[in-house]
Amino acid sequence: MLRGMKRLNRYENRILKIVKLGGKLVRFRQYGFSTKTAEGFRFPIYVLEIGKEKAIKRNVAGLVAGVHGLETIGIRVLLDFLDDLFARKTSDLYKEIRDGELGIVCIPILNPGGVAMKRRSNPGGVDLMRNSGVEAVKAPFFFGGHKISNLFPYYRGNVLQSESKVLDRFYAEYLLPAENKMIPVIDIHSGFGAVDHVWWPYAGTHEQCADETLFQNIANYLTTKFNHILYRFGPQSETYTTHGDLWDRLYNEYQKIKPDTDINGSRFLPLTLEIGTWSDIQLDPWKIFRKRGIFNPTRELKQESIISHRKFLTDVLRLAKIKPMDLV
Ligand SMILES: [Zn+2]
Repeated sequence: MLRGMKRLNRYENRILKIVKLGGKLVRFRQYGFSTKTAEGFRFPIYVLEIGKEKAIKRNVAGLVAGVHGLETIGIRVLLDFLDDLFARKTSDLYKEIRDGELGIVCIPILNPGGVAMKRRSNPGGVDLMRNSGVEAVKAPFFFGGHKISNLFPYYRGNVLQSESKVLDRFYAEYLLPAENKMIPVIDIHSGFGAVDHVWWPYAGTHEQCADETLFQNIANYLTTKFNHILYRFGPQSETYTTHGDLWDRLYNEYQKIKPDTDINGSRFLPLTLEIGTWSDIQLDPWKIFRKRGIFNPTRELKQESIISHRKFLTDVLRLAKIKPMDLV
């Protein structure tokens, strides 16, 4: 049996529990499959539609995690968030969902094979966030994505992987046709640095994306109005550049179909939340030598860290209800 299978089962049980708690407000879909393992096994990938169908067309926000199999903290942050939303049923966000004012579409685990196999890549050894085919202007050697071999991490792969195609379909079905003015999507990762980063496109170039000003206004809004001062906002390329970022590709696709010159149009706003897990290394210097250490905080700090992102996710998802002009 695969070493991470128990863990994957645990997360999938939590997803089912959320579906149950959500009642009529949550629809569970089996949306696609992972690439095959060496034994020929494919893992199902699920989507949750949260809210009324009309809200999913008119005021939708996206939530994604588990792109990298080792970054299980992102999956747990997502599950904790949904769990809390439906367990309490008292928050403003819950009421908005119940009343058809907001919908959330969610892929809780995009790379279930990576989780089950306890590795960053998918079962084919491909790093999904290096897999989109977008060439970076200049990316760091190796870490920025390479085509040497799937025996090494950060391998880009030669073709678009099943998991990447699932994300494409998710984008095409829910995000591209969404009618709201701002379509926020948050993809939760962990592992880089000592602080929590919130990145927008691009990962592959230092060139500004078409929505740079809008993203900056969002950052100001979240910081000044909602006091999210602990998050560090900016384009991903400010931290590091990589080849093959999936959001770069989808963002560019969106620009082609819905250019930013249409001021009454919608804006597709992918954000990556990269939860910093290096701060606790000072408390436990041996952790850095343990395999999963860098990507996951110690147990005691974990629960506190997980809960601390609920409010942030709420405030980002609620952007789906407002217009760019409401930010300033
Ligand atoms: Zn990641």
